[in-house]
Amino acid sequence: MDHTEVEILTARDVPLGGPRAMTVRRTLPQRARTLIGAWCFADHYGPDRVAESGGMDVAPHPHTGLQTVSWLFSGEIEHRDSLGTHASVRPGEINLMTGGHGISHTEVSTPDTTVLHGVQLWVALPDAHRHAPRDFQHHAPRPFRVDGAEVRVFLGTLAGATSPVRTFTPLLGAEVVIDAGAAVALDVDPDFEHGLLVDDGDVHLDGTPVRPADLGYTAPGRTTLLLRNTSDRPARTVLLGGTPFEEEIVMWWNFIGRSHQDIVEAREAWERASDRFGSVDGYPGDRLPAPALPNAVITPRKNPARR
Ligand code: MN
Repeated sequence: MDHTEVEILTARDVPLGGPRAMTVRRTLPQRARTLIGAWCFADHYGPDRVAESGGMDVAPHPHTGLQTVSWLFSGEIEHRDSLGTHASVRPGEINLMTGGHGISHTEVSTPDTTVLHGVQLWVALPDAHRHAPRDFQHHAPRPFRVDGAEVRVFLGTLAGATSPVRTFTPLLGAEVVIDAGAAVALDVDPDFEHGLLVDDGDVHLDGTPVRPADLGYTAPGRTTLLLRNTSDRPARTVLLGGTPFEEEIVMWWNFIGRSHQDIVEAREAWERASDRFGSVDGYPGDRLPAPALPNAVITPRKNPARR
């Protein structure tokens, strides 16, 4: 693809499951694109009135080979994991959980939450670190102004601000709220590819409209991204980026591995409640059973070759 083009990744609705299933809008992975940098999963949800959607109530479940990033615009989620972490996920604060070799956790919106709105993202771990010990990091970035926008950098570096949250590959994650009718030019790392997820507003990325819930992708090679908001109210976006992740990965359920056998082993360890994933305290219900494996061998995914 020409590096001047912006590729639009359209969201699809996915029910999260459960009795009053909350629905999320998923832009990664999809057929056209598996990863942006090491970002391999992007769910966008809300604003949902919890009284109608049921909110978030995810029973104990495992992860391996990845990190989860929770970033909220409104509402609050209670996080518990097998590291012993008991944390609140609040708007404007990143919670990054490293699954590494294995972790389990629960996510439940708090009783005081009336509207739930945010993103849930995953980061694939590179082969050298995919069995890293489980870990949890929290950070509340200080919001700051650039010409035309308010910015919160939760991972990596943008507009002179750097997040202290550690990652295993070069990554960017930032909330950029563009002023009504404003344009903002952001200097970016030309080694990075980027994805601009639009939450709300009439947003153009380098001249291409990106509708709410969609993601505009740009290939490496750019030094500046131009974000424009043509609406008469602020437009909220989340900018993701990273150096292209060249390894093939196998994604199934909550696991990332490199082979079908990795997935079989992780699933089997969860089903027999192995120490690999530990256990989570304080959840009033059963753990989530793993779904049945598909009959076919799970094949690796990789980004399509550059056109
Ligand atoms: Mn999870």
